[in-house]
Amino acid sequence: MTFRNIFYLYQPEKTAAKVADLSKYTKELSNLFSTSANILLISHINPDGDAVGSQLALYHYLTENGRKVSMITPNYLQEFLKWMTGADQIEIYIKERKKCRKLIEQADLIVFLDFNHSNRLGESEEFVKASGAKKILIDHHLDPENFTDIAISDTTKCSTAELVHELVCGMNGDEPFKSKPYAEALYVGIITDTGNFEHGSYSSRTFRTVAELLESGLEKEKILDRIYNNFSSDRLRLQGFALNRRMVVMPELKTAYIYLSREDLREYNYVKGDTEGFVNMPLSIKGICFSAIFIEKEGFIKMSFRSKGQFPSNEFATLYFSGGGHLNASGGEYPDTLENTIKYFLQVLKENVWRFGDGEL
Ligand code: 5GP
Ligand code: MN
Repeated sequence: MTFRNIFYLYQPEKTAAKVADLSKYTKELSNLFSTSANILLISHINPDGDAVGSQLALYHYLTENGRKVSMITPNYLQEFLKWMTGADQIEIYIKERKKCRKLIEQADLIVFLDFNHSNRLGESEEFVKASGAKKILIDHHLDPENFTDIAISDTTKCSTAELVHELVCGMNGDEPFKSKPYAEALYVGIITDTGNFEHGSYSSRTFRTVAELLESGLEKEKILDRIYNNFSSDRLRLQGFALNRRMVVMPELKTAYIYLSREDLREYNYVKGDTEGFVNMPLSIKGICFSAIFIEKEGFIKMSFRSKGQFPSNEFATLYFSGGGHLNASGGEYPDTLENTIKYFLQVLKENVWRFGDGEL
């Protein structure tokens, strides 16, 4: 079933009911937040700017309103997100398993932010699923899995951050919540999920949200600097190497890909996050509508896909690489060597070239 452009509420027996207007839920959410003693906010594995941004924004809103709130991510935050106010309050599951399990056990309300499949909880999945807490999903990805009591899923939003802002406004008497850490967190979510307003489903409403955030004293230059000018020289050299030596361009298939072996990464002192954004670069080549990056991990290949126009990179990822994501940005993985994975990729790509249509945007 495709959940598209609509808010869904699973209740009481977890059947999806279409609801057009989020405001119907803000009162109920507000009640849930004010009657829960221990609220736990969880974002997804390999948390990106939107995961951490929407998590922290909701945290700031709730704690500034006197609620008791904890936060967990399944694994580590990347360096460029660690400066955010409240980031030091996020418990890392794989670092503090005992502490996190206790937080999960104690929670009577758990909110999942920026993901909609329980496998993105990583190691904590079984433990979280076993919890008797009321569960709410807040997300903007397609096709939510039915694992929560309430699912607020709006795929028209550019980011979970934008959705959180609308929810918080609703809970705040239809007034934007004014707080600098809150505004900073949401701004990070919005700029990272749209590539600083280059792609994604941003809309006039996104800019109205940003306008409201700027009115909270947001220092946007400082944030842009911390998010985008945070590279090591090794990372920049790895980027040069990837483009020079590891990019294959296939104009006849409107596709280009980059591959990096573990050995390549070692040579450039790779740290987590260093390859972020590489997959976008081949799309700047004229005539290229689909881009892939293959990164060798231990025992499998992790990949990201980006497309322009109608090529459904998420369907491609789901069909062939146990993955998913958005129309133009997705990812997946494959349990084989780099060489075999690329061979398989080329084979299935050829079966799917018809999906490019005429290649026009
Ligand atoms: P990125 O390429 O930036 O890691 O991810 C782009 C999009 O693809 C994100 O929205 C993310 O949720 C989705 N994605 C990336 N990897 C996977 C994966 O392995 N499985 C699924 N289901 N989605 C993924
Ligand atoms: Mn997101």
